[in-house]
Amino acid sequence: MTTIALCGGVYSNPYALRAFLDDARARGADRLVCLGDFGAYGAEPEAVFPLLDGVECLAGNYEVAIGSGQTDCGCGYTDDADNAFAQIAYDYTFRNTSPAFAAFMRTLPTEHRETVEGVDLHLVHGSTLAVNDFWWESLDDDGHRMRVDASGADVVCCTHSGLPWTRRVTRSDGGETLVVNVGVIGRPANDGGTHVWYALLHCDDGAARAELVALPYDHAAQAASIRAAGLPEAFAATVETGWWETCLEIVPPEERSRGRFQLYKSAIPAFDAGPSWGEAPAVPDDDRPVMPLFGSALFPARLWVYTNFHCNLACSYCSVASSPRAVPRRLGPERFTALVDEAVREGFTELYVTGGEPFLEPDLADMLLAATEHLDVVCLTNAMLYRGTRRRELERLAGVERLTLQTSLDGPDAGAHDRYRGAGSWERAMAGLDLAVSLGLPVRVGMTETPDNAGSGEALRTLLAEHGVPGDRVAVRPLIARGHSDEGLVVGEDDTVPELTVTADGWHWHPAGADLPTSPDMHLGGPEVSMAEAKRRVVERFLTHRRADGSMPVIYQCAV
Ligand code: SF4
Repeated sequence: MTTIALCGGVYSNPYALRAFLDDARARGADRLVCLGDFGAYGAEPEAVFPLLDGVECLAGNYEVAIGSGQTDCGCGYTDDADNAFAQIAYDYTFRNTSPAFAAFMRTLPTEHRETVEGVDLHLVHGSTLAVNDFWWESLDDDGHRMRVDASGADVVCCTHSGLPWTRRVTRSDGGETLVVNVGVIGRPANDGGTHVWYALLHCDDGAARAELVALPYDHAAQAASIRAAGLPEAFAATVETGWWETCLEIVPPEERSRGRFQLYKSAIPAFDAGPSWGEAPAVPDDDRPVMPLFGSALFPARLWVYTNFHCNLACSYCSVASSPRAVPRRLGPERFTALVDEAVREGFTELYVTGGEPFLEPDLADMLLAATEHLDVVCLTNAMLYRGTRRRELERLAGVERLTLQTSLDGPDAGAHDRYRGAGSWERAMAGLDLAVSLGLPVRVGMTETPDNAGSGEALRTLLAEHGVPGDRVAVRPLIARGHSDEGLVVGEDDTVPELTVTADGWHWHPAGADLPTSPDMHLGGPEVSMAEAKRRVVERFLTHRRADGSMPVIYQCAV
């Protein structure tokens, strides 16, 4: 058997390269291979050169570029921000690479093919298509097949993308190729760890087996070296935290959704605040060039929970098609409590409880009381059921910190409101609102703007101020075409900021699209999916939609 240790993407990180050599030898590797990209990000390109003695090397795009005196690295980035960081790294590496090292680079092949123990082995840098091709694991089947077809070898090993993975891919000729992306040793794999990755390939009697190896090394020394050289802080931070802060836009949605950061802050000014009352997203006040999607206004840390779908009303514009006849799809107190605990663990700070009409749930007060121990809670209600037992339940909520009631009123009089929501509903909602205010419960009001009440927002604010609801607690949102409503703003996940929503049917992109029968396009997964995975799916879909034309979605908030 022959064992080959393969690394790539040294990125001027002699500390990791030394660790690779020691670790691979300790694991019994017969041969040591580097698939290229000796430079980038790090501050000590020349320290890498002597360590390559005894290592079989390919030229990556960096070696091709430096060896031939080109002015950029040819990494294959397409985004301006990615390219700006790549250029800083390249210029530094170019300036600090000796003529002898550059001459060595010129001697290297960009690919290598040989038979090892009966295994046809093909070594490349980016892929079998190009030296700077990014061979991501998330490529579709055709993308993988095209690359293995271009080789036909039993095993293809590559690097360049920075993320390790292995996969057996069926070629068009019916054969199978084991693809091994060995990862890189120059910086972590955007997984929150400080370790880096390389691969061991075991070849024996015509068969091959790959093993990805997590490699700890003196990352503190590498970070200190980067800082001492005056290179971007983001390069050092990535080494220390394990999360990529540069060269992000090239990363496909699936891979990027698994990291901590998804967007350059410089991409944010193109944002359209949208037709609702959402504010343009605040850019985090830190020195990082990038920001996470979750927790920003582009993906608020606000979880919507539908306790049920049946309702005492049957509003003709209800976006989730609720009515007294709607299938209740009740969540139940146990699932609700478990979701609250999960929401806290996942970093949510606000909980919006809605339906249907939540006050139809007999355990609602207990559920709200439990949730307010951990989160700021807003309960959306039509405020029409505060009688008998439910009034006593409402009284239990009086004075509870972190709880707000949000009620819909579609104007300063019954006209427009009752036309959409039913005769007498405005009077009863006002009475419920007055009761809640008299109990000291914080109240917010949302007005859905329809053709019948357009422009009456200020009159509603004036009226509500007389009832103890200040103007900044009253907001106007547009009618949307979902559920029962054919008219209004058309919102889809490709143009609307996500607000993660959970129902008995699972996870949804937005509370306005939480009714699975009428909004299947906004369904993210069933109730068996974890909240963490639902969040990741939101991020992946957001990035997929945004990548289509580079634009940002609009905010349509159901919350004040
Ligand atoms: S809009 Fe609200 S009050 Fe009207 S049917 Fe839908 S859930 Fe019920």
